[in-house]
Amino acid sequence: MINEKVFAVYDRGSSTSLSELSFQLLGAQRTSWAQLAEGCASLASVVVREVKCNGFSAFLQFNPQRIVSTAAKVDAQTIRERKCFLCVENLPSAQKGVLYIDEFLILCNPAPIFNNHFTISNIKHIPQSIESFAGTFLQLAKDLSPALTVFYNGPKCGASAPDHMHFQASPTGVIPIERDASESSRRILKGQQGAVALYTLKNYGRQVVVLESEDKQSLETALLKFISAMRTIVYVTEEPMLNILCSYGPHEWRLIIFPRKKHRPDVFFKEGNEKILISPAAIDIGGLVVTPMEKDFNTVDARMIEGIFNEVSLETETVESILSQL
Ligand SMILES: [Zn+2]
Repeated sequence: MINEKVFAVYDRGSSTSLSELSFQLLGAQRTSWAQLAEGCASLASVVVREVKCNGFSAFLQFNPQRIVSTAAKVDAQTIRERKCFLCVENLPSAQKGVLYIDEFLILCNPAPIFNNHFTISNIKHIPQSIESFAGTFLQLAKDLSPALTVFYNGPKCGASAPDHMHFQASPTGVIPIERDASESSRRILKGQQGAVALYTLKNYGRQVVVLESEDKQSLETALLKFISAMRTIVYVTEEPMLNILCSYGPHEWRLIIFPRKKHRPDVFFKEGNEKILISPAAIDIGGLVVTPMEKDFNTVDARMIEGIFNEVSLETETVESILSQL
């Protein structure tokens, strides 16, 4: 089954980089897979509007084709009863991918938010878990650099397939947090753990923890320690709610972590005109807020964005407690 789905196999020793292979895949899939061609074409008509919030800007993207993902039911029963759309045997017949380390398939996202938007799906149906794949996450970011950034949505805060392990990739620098996290005026150095520097961002309307290192093993250890400390502090046994972005270049990795308290804001569950269809995952909490409904795109203002970010983000004191454990 898997062989039929392989467009190319990534070989780290080859002169073709993983991002080049992924772009070749996208080019080929655009001509061979109608759904993807339509998805890419409709991306050309999306509109973006800047909303100046207190201390940061958010960018609303009116993107009607994201309705399926934004409004997706992700409760345990729905997930159990639906056919998993990331399982190899359920992929559309025209869909193919780049095989990565015999374990993941890099696939084109048929409802893209960016010109180059990939889903990186495990070839097995195993649960979404960052702790099991922290090392792969870092290596993947390096292999896809400098063109692409990899991101992860936790099973309870944004993953639309919480039962099937996957990452996504976006063009580096297009999610606003990637630029904002580089601004020295925002960064507060909270400490140094061996080869890993740890920062938070001030006046940003939601909690962000940034880990940077040239050493992969140290960074992986620091990430796992952070998750473990968060699990203890927020008192959960399962994976604590996290969205994480990872990029590499030119010499070091950067992890941008959003510790979350809640998946969807209360306004998501309202009825009629009061309902706002915003379901924050990594891209949205990263500052590019997808609104599939035109009404929301036109009416959402700074106060609402500030309110939503604050509502779904872990409190400052809780994040401080987690950091004090490290
Ligand atoms: Zn699956």
